[in-house]
Amino acid sequence: MDFQKQGMSIFGVPSFVKAPVVQPDGDWRADIAALGVPFDLGTSYRSGTRFGPKAIRDWSTRFSILSTDTPGYWDIRSGTRRGGCRIVDCGDVDIVPLLWEENFERITRAVEHILARGARPVVLGGDHAITLPVLRAYKDRGPITVFQLDAHADYRDDSGGVRFGHGNVLRRVCELDHVEKAVCIGVRSLRQQQGDLADHKAHGNTLICAWDVHKHGVEHYRSALPSGKNVYVTFDIDAMDASIAPGTGTPEVGGLTYEQARRLLEMVCENNTIVGLDLVEVNPLFDPTNITALLANHLLIETLGFLFPG
Ligand code: MN
Ligand code: MN
Repeated sequence: MDFQKQGMSIFGVPSFVKAPVVQPDGDWRADIAALGVPFDLGTSYRSGTRFGPKAIRDWSTRFSILSTDTPGYWDIRSGTRRGGCRIVDCGDVDIVPLLWEENFERITRAVEHILARGARPVVLGGDHAITLPVLRAYKDRGPITVFQLDAHADYRDDSGGVRFGHGNVLRRVCELDHVEKAVCIGVRSLRQQQGDLADHKAHGNTLICAWDVHKHGVEHYRSALPSGKNVYVTFDIDAMDASIAPGTGTPEVGGLTYEQARRLLEMVCENNTIVGLDLVEVNPLFDPTNITALLANHLLIETLGFLFPG
């Protein structure tokens, strides 16, 4: 057994699930391409998500079985072998300190390369601001519905002159011609502004609060979730309850449980074509036990299981 590649996660170079490392514009073939975006210039409170990709990759080596010659994992719940797909790791976008516009262009270019090779990107953030340049890469691939899991709607038009931070990102994303609408679930922050939420609704988007998920259950919202669409999933880890996701810049109490988030992802993956996804706002500087990085990986691995059910 090649312990460097599979089995023992304590050995080897920690690419995402120990997948081969390639350049985004290289000559490779894969179904899934991981891309790290160590960018946190969009953060309004506690910075540090620039270390997110490293933290996620480090724990992802626990799931290195996905990148072996017989990929996939045995899913006890479904009694099937899942997640069998070809995965590469495109490394990190070369982020330049402070030049956010240049960084946005680099992010868009990297994702364009991945899409041009016919792979689906799995983007490891970084703060939530990166979702705009990622989605810009889908310019000729619309219409796209964005499924957002988040404690915040991120729909502020202008935050003291800032329009491209992580609190503005869904507003900017919904302004893209190729984005049809956003379905946002898990919102519960007490710092949301009435006007932003009114705009969110007026623009035809759907918003489902965390307490309603707790009260009615996930299945109750099946008809509110996208169906038959091309869906991009943007997962802000602060959608999850702060007790299991402390490692994030703007945690909120009262959040989603693992089972709720898992089932939401399962339903959205089953009923739509998933064109790509990101997982953002993991901040290892506030994650002393690494539970947030572990949680992030579980969400990603099970999503791969839903996309490639075997
Ligand atoms: Mn958030
Ligand atoms: Mn967010």
